[in-house]
Amino acid sequence: MLRTALVSVRLPLRSKFPTRAFSTSSAWRTINSLHTFSEEEELLRDSVRRFAQDVVGPKVREMDENEMMDPSVIKDLFEQGLMGIETSAEHGGAESSFTSAIISIEELAKVDPSVSVMCDVHNTLVNTVIRKYGTKEQQEKWLPQLAESKLGSFCLSETASGSDAFALQTRAIKDGDNWVINGSKMWITNSYEAEVFLIFANIDPSKGYKGITCFIATRDMGIQIAKKEQKLGIRASSTCTLNFDDLKIPAENVIGGEGLGYKIAIEILNEGRIGIAAQMLGLAQGAFDKAVPYTYERKQFGQAVGTFQGMAFQIAQAAIDLESARLLTYNAARRKEEGVALLRRQPWPNIGRALWHNGCQDRRSNGLVGGFTRETGIEKFWRDSKIGAIYEGTSNIQLQTISKFIQKEYS
Ligand SMILES: Cc1cc2nc3c(=O)[nH]c(=O)nc-3n(C[C@H](O)[C@H](O)[C@H](O)COP(=O)(O)OP(=O)(O)OC[C@H]3O[C@@H](n4cnc5c(N)ncnc54)[C@H](O)[C@@H]3O)c2cc1C
Repeated sequence: MLRTALVSVRLPLRSKFPTRAFSTSSAWRTINSLHTFSEEEELLRDSVRRFAQDVVGPKVREMDENEMMDPSVIKDLFEQGLMGIETSAEHGGAESSFTSAIISIEELAKVDPSVSVMCDVHNTLVNTVIRKYGTKEQQEKWLPQLAESKLGSFCLSETASGSDAFALQTRAIKDGDNWVINGSKMWITNSYEAEVFLIFANIDPSKGYKGITCFIATRDMGIQIAKKEQKLGIRASSTCTLNFDDLKIPAENVIGGEGLGYKIAIEILNEGRIGIAAQMLGLAQGAFDKAVPYTYERKQFGQAVGTFQGMAFQIAQAAIDLESARLLTYNAARRKEEGVALLRRQPWPNIGRALWHNGCQDRRSNGLVGGFTRETGIEKFWRDSKIGAIYEGTSNIQLQTISKFIQKEYS
């Protein structure tokens, strides 16, 4: 029964989508609603929604309690074609649009933000770096593995370089046909289970950030997991410290060119942040869908608590915040597909995520006793939401970026 469901889920995603909605076809340009999707995208949304509810849903609580991703979920993500969403069919992927990736991340997050971020980092960061900056040979070698079975991670942050990412200390020194990497990375998502690692290291600190270079490494080259973090939220998503001790990487594994790692990191995180916005959007909708019906079931003073004005207005405000975050996220995805320079508007979806985070989540937890115990799964959404203000640029860094653009334009 389950297999049948999986097969039916998989078919639309694996099929080659003929058009990229929101982008190339002039017919789409006449449609203004941000809620308009192509038929293929609607099919994909339904498929991922069913997969998330039927396959991931029953495992969410156990994975959270165990602080560990169920290996079968990772296998299923690959089998569903969800780990090569934008990868070309030639390289074993679904050859779909960026918006399709965003929809998938959102749908997974409605059920489990940990599974969602696993899919997000793998697709929007790791696959995209190789698709955009890899040579033909690198694409042929790595993309099929990443679409079929090998999980990827993106290793930029270090103990002393978080928001100031380019202050990284990891060094790479050329030794014949190899690069030898020494240093460590911190807070690396997916790294406990990953087999492919994109590592940012400096090949010439005298050049500052212009020495930063991106390397492709595999676990069996000698990457050591020094520590697996215990976290408040997204506990099933692994976050580890990695050590590189004379890690030998073949010279052909430099990606995008020597000294161009900073450019890759900036450009990729600009796109990737839309994925994190989608994760927070899905999370917010998931919490809303669970919390709000309870307010109409729960009666006090002879009436449903959700119908008291004090509660009803909080629910209405939460719905407005949620819709605002949705429109910001979808719009950023469309603009990215249209090839519009992302930088100026790109942080906005993240402000959307902060809007939800600060507003609805706290309102919900204040207003509903049902969200305080673990059984309902609502408190998990609250815990999981906290990461939205931190990774791929903290809320302050997003605000700083937006304010710089405003200043440039108006001063
Ligand atoms: C669960 C998790 C998963 C992660 N996954 C990855 C991953 O896969 N790969 C990866 O490379 N990294 C990852 N990170 C790291 C993440 O990107 C960093 O945590 C983030 O960039 C913030 O860096 P930091 O934690 O060092 O905070 P800091 O940069 O030290 O910031 C601390 C505080 O100071 C504020 N601040 C800093 N600079 C400024 C400024 N100029 N103006 C105003 N306020 C400022 C920040 O907003 C924040 O509130 C992950 C982190 C977490 C927690």
